[in-house]
Amino acid sequence: MASPVILICVTAQPFEHGTVDERFRYCQTGRHWGPRGAAGILPWAVTPDGRAWVLLSHRSERVAAGGTWSTFGGAIDIGETPWQAAVRETGEETCGIDVARGAVTAELEAPCPHGCGWSYRTFVVRIEPAVGHLPAVSIAAAAAWETEAVCWVLADEVGGHGDLHPGLQASWPVLSEAITAA
Ligand SMILES: [Zn+2]
Repeated sequence: MASPVILICVTAQPFEHGTVDERFRYCQTGRHWGPRGAAGILPWAVTPDGRAWVLLSHRSERVAAGGTWSTFGGAIDIGETPWQAAVRETGEETCGIDVARGAVTAELEAPCPHGCGWSYRTFVVRIEPAVGHLPAVSIAAAAAWETEAVCWVLADEVGGHGDLHPGLQASWPVLSEAITAA
């Protein structure tokens, strides 16, 4: 199966392929957020009626791919594993769920197709809804500048959503399959 492709920020920059600085890794077609790669979490849950839901973030116009819906995540810091970075970023962006206590049902690695060494790791994490309903999740105050909204979306309706982040759009078929199979 071909790996889905996740590219963040594709403005052409006159940097050498594969070079890094404190914030980006530069690539032949642009740059990626996170010199050590990036990682994120797709939380999901099943309600008692058997329907699967995923929690998505509506990105603010102030960030790359503003206005789109995406998973939670960001750059991997020095000394962090992808999982630690994904949990930290999700905790910084949301209040109301503890993804570290969820069950990782799938992991997806999406390397840059240009071979610069950058990749995005997505952890698909099942949350157990308490007493039958989805946890109420809100935006962490410190993340209000980068996040417009957080929302539980029916997994069946994500594929037809018109405003997905290009990375989520590319990886959705695989992520969706991972949820269906779990
Ligand atoms: Zn690249």
